[in-house]
Amino acid sequence: MEYISTRGGAKARGSIQAILTGLAADGGLFIPREFPEGVLGESLAWKDLSYADLATGILSLFLTDFTMEELKEIVGAVYTEERFSSPSITPVNTIRPGLGFLELWHGPTCAFKDLALQLLPHLLVKAARKCGDDRKIILLVATSGDTGKAALEGFKDLPGTMVIVFYPVQGVSAMQKRQMLTQEGENTIVIGVEGNFDQAQTGVKAIFSHQELGERMSQAGMRFSSANSINWGRLIPQVVYYVWAYLSWLRHGRLQAGEEFNVVVPTGNFGNILAAYYGKRLGLPIKKLICASNMNNVLTEFLRTGVYNRKREFYQTISPSMDILISSNLERLLFELAQEDTDRVKALMNDLQKTGVYRLPTDLLEKLGADFWGGYATEEETKQAMAEVFADHHYLMDPHTAVGYKVYQEYTSETGDKTPTVIASTASPYKFPASVAQAIMKKEKVTGQEELALLQEISQFTGTPIPEPLRDLDAKPLRHHRVVAVQDMEETVRDILFSGK
Ligand SMILES: *Cc1c(COP(=O)(O)O)cnc(C)c1O
Repeated sequence: MEYISTRGGAKARGSIQAILTGLAADGGLFIPREFPEGVLGESLAWKDLSYADLATGILSLFLTDFTMEELKEIVGAVYTEERFSSPSITPVNTIRPGLGFLELWHGPTCAFKDLALQLLPHLLVKAARKCGDDRKIILLVATSGDTGKAALEGFKDLPGTMVIVFYPVQGVSAMQKRQMLTQEGENTIVIGVEGNFDQAQTGVKAIFSHQELGERMSQAGMRFSSANSINWGRLIPQVVYYVWAYLSWLRHGRLQAGEEFNVVVPTGNFGNILAAYYGKRLGLPIKKLICASNMNNVLTEFLRTGVYNRKREFYQTISPSMDILISSNLERLLFELAQEDTDRVKALMNDLQKTGVYRLPTDLLEKLGADFWGGYATEEETKQAMAEVFADHHYLMDPHTAVGYKVYQEYTSETGDKTPTVIASTASPYKFPASVAQAIMKKEKVTGQEELALLQEISQFTGTPIPEPLRDLDAKPLRHHRVVAVQDMEETVRDILFSGK
């Protein structure tokens, strides 16, 4: 399978190069030249596959530079009960007929990013070796919380790699910080940045594209790589669990073959919901893709009016992994809507860069509305949703998932649609103990408590277990202490790479 750029200005590449380079040379995103439309027609034959075998089958459609044996080996070592606390890897928890939560947080860092970031490191190393590149892979990440930890766990002690994560000192939750600062592994480095996430991200991008540094690294037998969510290698593993959700509902008789269902996705960078859209293109009978946002509701407005406007107030919410104003993966959807007319995509992206705004032409907006529906939840609504679902169903949602639930309610009351629905549950509630406890417990139990102490309180109150990876966090030693100024990020990376400091 060949990959072309959404902006039409770069050479077509194979799947190996698409994964290794991440971004196309013209600044666009890689997209398959020909999408395997509808191949899931035979999905009934896939019904009884294990998660790993299903993943191998789906990856093999897109990563055609890898042999089936190679994929099988990599995938088989990742989607195991050792790494994921559920035998079905991403179980569907059906709380009432026609409503299920697709739990994507049974991996080592308790958020959905594990599904892709446990796999991608192995794909990257294999891809490099297959094209005769044996330089050490230096993964550089800027994180607002979940991605950094998932990347650290994914690359931990993987031979031939090193991972350096920058996080904004004030911009992550106590839990997220503790998860990163206790990170084990000989090849992991975690550094605080005295700045916000955007500054950390900009710093990483500058280091990444620094030509002299790149050359010096090459001479020393190293290369940079990136694992952010625009990398094609992160999207495809995410398609797998939507297929899995459908097949598991089929297996349990909750859906008939070919029967439609809706998918709700708490959305930030538009990666996870785009994967569901690709699932639909593969042939999943998805009726509506419901895009749920928090107060940073740039996507809600876009889906309703066609205007994408990032010039707006930025809110720090209790669903921080969705606090995003530029949803990078949306560019891939624009490419599909514009029927691969790259000039149209380029024009919209230019508008965004120059003015911070673009407007989707009406013909494209209509097409968008056929597949997608958008809504958002306020902070209060998010907490209310957590309380309500716990009271009614004894089911505990994290704040991101709660945003999805609230938007689903709005969708059903606005449209009257009764189609069975799967809500992507993107993080364990134990990853965000402060807001979960506030939502479901009495004030006096919560006030003044540290996040880590609240884990116990929540567990006792709800009778649910604390996920193993979060259980002994306060007993683990802090291993990473470095904090640097934004302007010192590059020097710090140089010190690490060339002086071993
Ligand atoms: C990353 C993340 C999201 C947003 O996913 P996108 O693919 O960026 O849209 C939602 N919830 C959680 C818990 C996340 O970590």
